[in-house]
Amino acid sequence: MKIIMLGAPGAGKGTQAKKIAAKYHVPHISTGDIFRANIKEGTELGKKAQEYMDQGLLVPDELVCDLVVDRIHKDDCENGFILDGFPRTIPQADALDGALAQNGEKIEYAIDVEVPDENIIKRMAGRRSCKDCGAIFHLVYNPPKKENCCDVCGGPLVLRDDDKEETVKKRLDVYHEQTAPLIDHYKKAGSLYEVDGTQDINVVFEEIESILEA
Ligand code: ADP
Ligand code: ADP
Ligand code: ZN
Repeated sequence: MKIIMLGAPGAGKGTQAKKIAAKYHVPHISTGDIFRANIKEGTELGKKAQEYMDQGLLVPDELVCDLVVDRIHKDDCENGFILDGFPRTIPQADALDGALAQNGEKIEYAIDVEVPDENIIKRMAGRRSCKDCGAIFHLVYNPPKKENCCDVCGGPLVLRDDDKEETVKKRLDVYHEQTAPLIDHYKKAGSLYEVDGTQDINVVFEEIESILEA
């Protein structure tokens, strides 16, 4: 099961990817999480990535492509994977498709979670992520059981630096310019599936289950 998640920032890619990973036992690979972990650890990659992330810009392709290609060749990806936040540009998609094609493989499901821009701003202001385990909550739509405390590990919940309104607007522009063309790319490849991401989290997941189990 080789899956990629497409959709604007805040569309619900991470939320759905975690549910898919849990149900179908494939690893959830989030490039955003990988960069944030590197920033936390103060690595060279983290330092470089942060310059771009803080501005709402994409990290250059050359810093992300090899990292992902190496990751999907690890043993735990034998039965597939879910990529969340990659590819985000046509060159990234070409790098991924090319690496898979070397083994006669391809992306089977490109799941596009569709949410209009108007809803995105509201979603991002309320997003809270666990500092320790990365679990995703929303103050209104998916609140934690205990205020500011992760349901999964008890860690503290934080607003991401790049979820401030100005940065979100920039990220949306970048999405429309550089990432939305991937919808056409995977439509042409015959692997595009669209879901209405404005529905309740569990309803969106039911739609995804029916795609993966068809
Ligand atoms: P969101 O969940 O809002 O879509 P992510 O956590 O996926 O955000 O990404 C946060 C930031 O990390 C992006 O704005 C970008 O700067 C950087 N990033 C993540 N994945 C990629 C990628 N594949 N290519 C370039 N930059 C990326
Ligand atoms: P992405 O990975 O695409 O950036 P997230 O999964 O982090 O998006 O979701 C962004 C925010 O919206 C989070 O606070 C999450 O709890 C919330 N969210 C996710 N899916 C839905 C949904 N279907 N309805 C309402 N809120 C949602
Ligand atoms: Zn946690």
